[in-house]
Amino acid sequence: MSHVIIIGCGVVGAAIAYELSQVTGLQITVVDQQPPAQASTGAALGVLIGVISQKAKGKAWQLRQSSIQRYETLIPELEALTGRKIPFNRQGILHLCWEAENFESWEKLVEIRSSQGWQLEIWDTAKLKSICPQVHNDKITGAVYSPQDRQLDPTALTLALVAAAQQKGVTFKFGVNVSNISAASIETTEGKIAADWIVVAAGLGSTPLTAQLNQKIDIRPVLGQALQVNLGHSIGNPEFQPMITCNDVHIVPLGGGDYWIGATVEFPANGDEISPNYELLESVKQQAIAFCPELASATITRTWSGLRPRPEGRPAPIIEKLPGFSNILLATGHYRNGVLLAPATAYTIREMITSMDS
Ligand SMILES: Cc1cc2nc3c(=O)[nH]c(=O)nc-3n(C[C@H](O)[C@H](O)[C@H](O)COP(=O)(O)OP(=O)(O)OC[C@H]3O[C@@H](n4cnc5c(N)ncnc54)[C@H](O)[C@@H]3O)c2cc1C
Repeated sequence: MSHVIIIGCGVVGAAIAYELSQVTGLQITVVDQQPPAQASTGAALGVLIGVISQKAKGKAWQLRQSSIQRYETLIPELEALTGRKIPFNRQGILHLCWEAENFESWEKLVEIRSSQGWQLEIWDTAKLKSICPQVHNDKITGAVYSPQDRQLDPTALTLALVAAAQQKGVTFKFGVNVSNISAASIETTEGKIAADWIVVAAGLGSTPLTAQLNQKIDIRPVLGQALQVNLGHSIGNPEFQPMITCNDVHIVPLGGGDYWIGATVEFPANGDEISPNYELLESVKQQAIAFCPELASATITRTWSGLRPRPEGRPAPIIEKLPGFSNILLATGHYRNGVLLAPATAYTIREMITSMDS
């Protein structure tokens, strides 16, 4: 029996735990200094920008494609196993085109996706108006609709992954900090634990842990703020509530007249210190009102912020062996797409372990 220790129980660590729980011959322990689904995962909007992403080919597209395919089976599977409900919006993503947006590049993407077996539709303003009357601004020149993209509740998903993995024998240690790692063990606030495999899924915490092994993986925080509003009723057609996005501002319908609006993208000015800039959050809200004017009368019920783990000087995410160590695996630095990429990340880690563990 090989012992796998996963450090971090955000959406990425939880997805890996559940995926590995299906492999025979593995004993799995997940350690997190906090309860599950805090840190970046606790702040995420759960928008899965897959088919409509500009990543047309290569690894970036493969990871997206395999995640969106897996989510279609994963959500019902987890709901059946755990009896928990995971809010999962199957009405797609609607991207609004603003002013001089390049329709030619969208037309090209529609063709590429069609050859890959996915649908994308370009709507003119008349079609947009008839289907989504809540959208209104003279600068909107049309829209791209992606019916197979999704949005889900990242916290509900992570808690369901934990519950399902627990049922399948995974041990979770919450409130336990990992202070040090080596090739054969981890040191924690509850003592040393021996390991055959260590998976570092610690988000921003991955940097200090790998620095101790002189293989620093440099992951820096990018702050995101978002807000929840309530209108008392749905905007537009209550039967058709896709996630609407324009100029990188998302309006996420939650049902019952509740919407999430976000998120800001704020880089640290000096070193790693960032504090939320409330003017930027206000500007995100104003942009949402600019394309969905009815939101002006909504009541703000909650605001929050979180830190996205962004790899410095290299593309996100990092899913590979830690250089110099054959049994320490990195599943980190997912930046803006950790919820989207969690299933594909978990599958990649499973393949790495099972191909070397036989
Ligand atoms: C405002 C906002 C909106 C977002 N919206 C989206 C979205 O719509 N779609 C999307 O796909 N992504 C989105 N993201 C990004 C997404 O949240 C992240 O990419 C994702 O949550 C990363 O997951 P993770 O499990 O790697 O990290 P985290 O969720 O940060 O989890 C890391 C865990 O490791 C633990 N840990 C760290 N160090 C240690 C240690 N030494 N010992 C023990 N435990 C440790 C932490 O306690 C934490 O629980 C958003 C992020 C923000 C902030």
